[in-house]
Parts: sequence; C-alpha cells; structure tokens
Amino acid sequence: MLEATGGSLTVQELDLAPPGPGEVLVRLAASGVCRSDYNAIDGTTESPCPVVLGHEGAGVVEAVGAGVTRVAPGDHVALSWTPSCGECSECARDLPQLCSTVWPVMSEAGLMDGTSRLSRDGERVYHYCFLSTFAEATVVPERSCIPIPHDVPFDVAALVGCAITTGVGAVWKTAGVRPGDRVAVIGCGGVGLSALMAAVAVGAEPVIAVDMTRSKVDAARAFGASAGVVWAGSAEATAEAIREVSGGGVDYAIEATGRGEAMQAAVLSTRNRGAAVLIGIPREDVMLTVPARSIPRMERRILGSIYGSARPEHDFASILGVYRSGRLPLDLLISHRLPLADVSQAFDLMLSGEALRVVLDTTTGGTA
Ligand SMILES: [Zn+2]
Ligand SMILES: [Zn+2]
Repeated sequence: MLEATGGSLTVQELDLAPPGPGEVLVRLAASGVCRSDYNAIDGTTESPCPVVLGHEGAGVVEAVGAGVTRVAPGDHVALSWTPSCGECSECARDLPQLCSTVWPVMSEAGLMDGTSRLSRDGERVYHYCFLSTFAEATVVPERSCIPIPHDVPFDVAALVGCAITTGVGAVWKTAGVRPGDRVAVIGCGGVGLSALMAAVAVGAEPVIAVDMTRSKVDAARAFGASAGVVWAGSAEATAEAIREVSGGGVDYAIEATGRGEAMQAAVLSTRNRGAAVLIGIPREDVMLTVPARSIPRMERRILGSIYGSARPEHDFASILGVYRSGRLPLDLLISHRLPLADVSQAFDLMLSGEALRVVLDTTTGGTA
C-alpha cells in the first residue's frame, strides 16, 4: 500500500468487501511490476492515496457478484485495466482501449461505480487502474477478467495484462507490421522487448534493438533482434545510425521510452511512408519537434498506441496462442521473481536497469 505520493510501499492487512453486481473476486497468483506503478509512487502521475498499486495481474476466480456471466469460480484469468463498456461511441467505433466510460471513471480510483471495495479500519483505500494487483486477492470489474487456458503460467499471463499487450499490440495492431518490413524498437524494457518479439514473429527484417545501454542492446539478441544501435547522444545521430543499419530507414520505429528525444529519433529514423509508433507515455509538458516538410514530402506518419490498440477479450487469447506455439518466447521477459513482501526491492531492481521484468509471487503471503 502507498500511504501518500512520494512515500514508499508497505505491506499491510486490509479489508476487502465481497464483489458487488458485475464484479469478481480474484485470488491473485502473480503481479508484474510496471513503470506506471512507479509513476504513481513518485508523483509523475498523481493517484489518490492511500492506494493499493499494481495493474498487471493474473489468478483464479474465487467468487462472482450478481449478474456475472463471463467467468465462474475456478477460471484462470489475466486482468485487463481497460474494462471497456462496449456501449459508448468509442467502443462502437471499435476503440475499446479508448472507451469513454472507462477513462473518466479510472481517475476516481474505485471500481466502475466509483466506490472502493478496499478499506482499512473503515477508512477508504483506493484502487489503481481497477485492479490493485499488489495483493493476495482483489475485487475487479467483470470486464477486466479475461479467461486464459489452465496451462499458461500465471507470471506470463500477468504480463499479458499490460507490458506484453502494449508492445505486441503496437506492432501487430497499431502498426500492422508485415513480413519483410524494417523495424526499429527504441527502449529495450519489458514493453520494447515485447514489441521486438512481435516484429520477429511476423517476419520483419531487420529488427533493430535501440537502447541507451550496450548491455540491453546485446541482450535483445536473445529475443531475435538482428541488429543493434546504442543511443548515440542525440536524436539525429541515433536516427542516422538506425538509417544506416537498416539500409536507408525503417518502415516502423516503435518508441517505448516516452522520452521526447527518443520520439524524435523514431520519426527521423523512418524511410518514405514510414511510421513512428509512439507507445511510451511522456511527461505532460513534453513537446515533439520534427521536420515538418518531411511529413508530406516523405509521407511520414506518426501513430499513437495505447494498450497496443488491443481488444483484450480477443487479443490476450491470440497473443497467448502464439506464445504456446513457441513463436513468442514471452518467458524470457521475466528476469526476477520475488515474494509480495519484497515489492520495494522489485522497484529498486526496475529502477537500477538490472531487471527486464520483475514478477511478484502474490501467493506467498505478503505480511512482513
Ligand atoms: Zn503497465
Ligand atoms: Zn466504451
């Protein structure tokens, strides 16, 4: 639990109310640790406190509230943080990731009716992204529950709930990368490496890994990268290196860091008709400056991608299907597994750059 923005996480016993109508109690098995959780801790994005963070989880349905039809007790589920309503104008336009019901409610930090199921001695505790997965159990909206096959490991399923879908979806859905397309991925963390694996899986060539550190670029080879570029000090120099390695610029430059300079490098590294696909969430005040003439003159494009433009009900299953076939080695993303009680150490590992993805085992009992 995070008591206040800027504080540290503590492990505590909280009260969890039973699931209301349209809600589901999930016994969590695994929770990934994501940069967005850290943004809530340090205040980059403000979240009401006290709050239970975590938005990348998987587990087993334990109980369902009235009217729930999608899942039943015993089902294995991966959790989605966009429980889209299916009825608003954006959902009708097939943009569930931008659901106009979900996003305003998310900022209230409760469930779909705005209220909490979490409390401590009668005092309200806030939810995070509807999920609050840094816990042994959670109550979530029915629409957040995506059933998964019983043979999928919970740690991989948890990551499908955020990082993997964000990266893979950006390549398969937002960009629609085809065999032979030239792809660069800027930022080789969990999201970037997911995008990289997705590009390799569809037969993109070359697939170029780009990162600030040589060790991450080298590590990306294990994920199928055919070339690597270490950040060359500026957007222009890095883009020049990418253009050189790719034989004249890439069809898609996937940007997974959210840094303004990296976004610029993504645009500058594209060839004619190429697209920069921007996934990383920048600070609110970041502006993107690009050579405007090249946009019409080269037919360059800039594509935004949130949650991989995914429809979780469909895309979690297709991602896991390719994973089970062996063509998407998602297990490689998990560099560390820690008990829930070591959540602070998990963030230290993430911030040090030492970890790819840290997954918390939420079954071990969190009470320190
Ligand atoms: Zn995330
Ligand atoms: Zn909607």
